[in-house]
Amino acid sequence: MSVVSAPLIRGVGLTKHFPIKGGVFARATGAVRAVDGVDIDIAPGETLGLVGESGCGKTTTGRMLVKLVDPTDGMIEFDGRRIEALSPAQMRPIRREMQIIFQDPYGSLNPRMSVEDIIAEPMQILNIGHAQSRREQVRELLAVVGLAPYHAERFPHEFSGGQRQRIGIARALAVRPKLVVCDEPVSALDVSIQAQVINLLEDLQTEFGLTYLFISHDLGVVRHISERVMVMYLGKVVEVAPKHELYRNPQHPYTQALLSAIPVPDPTRRIKRQAITGDIPSPANPPSGCGFHTRCPHVMAVCREREPPLVEGATGHRVACHLVTGSGG
Ligand code: SF4
Repeated sequence: MSVVSAPLIRGVGLTKHFPIKGGVFARATGAVRAVDGVDIDIAPGETLGLVGESGCGKTTTGRMLVKLVDPTDGMIEFDGRRIEALSPAQMRPIRREMQIIFQDPYGSLNPRMSVEDIIAEPMQILNIGHAQSRREQVRELLAVVGLAPYHAERFPHEFSGGQRQRIGIARALAVRPKLVVCDEPVSALDVSIQAQVINLLEDLQTEFGLTYLFISHDLGVVRHISERVMVMYLGKVVEVAPKHELYRNPQHPYTQALLSAIPVPDPTRRIKRQAITGDIPSPANPPSGCGFHTRCPHVMAVCREREPPLVEGATGHRVACHLVTGSGG
């Protein structure tokens, strides 16, 4: 009998609208609907890949889950506790359990701080240990991420992009989190280094029992590391499925287009490329009906009128598309 564990983190109806202000009195004249009613859950020890083009709301979703951004609406439950309305002071004891690894290993490390201070800072802020124990921890963490003890005295500019991302990972792990949001952690790195960092993240997940939300614009990058994959478009989830199901049987035209864009070295396994034409519409003025209708090669009249609901077909495979679910009839 399979045991379904309660999610470590769950978001229901997560919404973030950023007001657009204009005029002399800076009144709100509209809103950017960055995230619009997203349901998301991640089981303990699981990796959920979250994919979509830039501007689809994936980064805002990740930041809302760890409360770096307050939701406009929706519920967040972390480890059985509601956190969406907690103040920064109330979040303090929970903060150490949820960390984030940022995209830009060049911009996310303070250039004036030594590696030792960068990695020790979260422990210091959260009052974990004392100066000597933190020093020892920093050296242990450097070893864990494949760097040497003497690197502690150096400064960020002395490292390559891949090494800097290892420092960012050591910093995130310093407070022994349960959940790590990896926000495009390899996008700024050379392809040859990307696999090393992803392998490191996988090893650390096993060693420390971590749960990951792995955000990327590239379905090829999340394939290796994720157990399930969620695809977002214009602030909404359009498809979510177990990894093998999603890559073998993508249902949403947007997912199909993203998949066909992944380079495949073997020409016999190459999928016919389905280029998506046009730009992603503005989240300040999203299209009526299905948000993808302005770019979809299969658009029907109903798509312009009615928003397709996210419907479960095969187990755990949910899709929001009238063509797939027949929800337009
Ligand atoms: Fe395309 Fe219509 Fe499906 Fe939207 S609902 S993805 S426009 S077929």
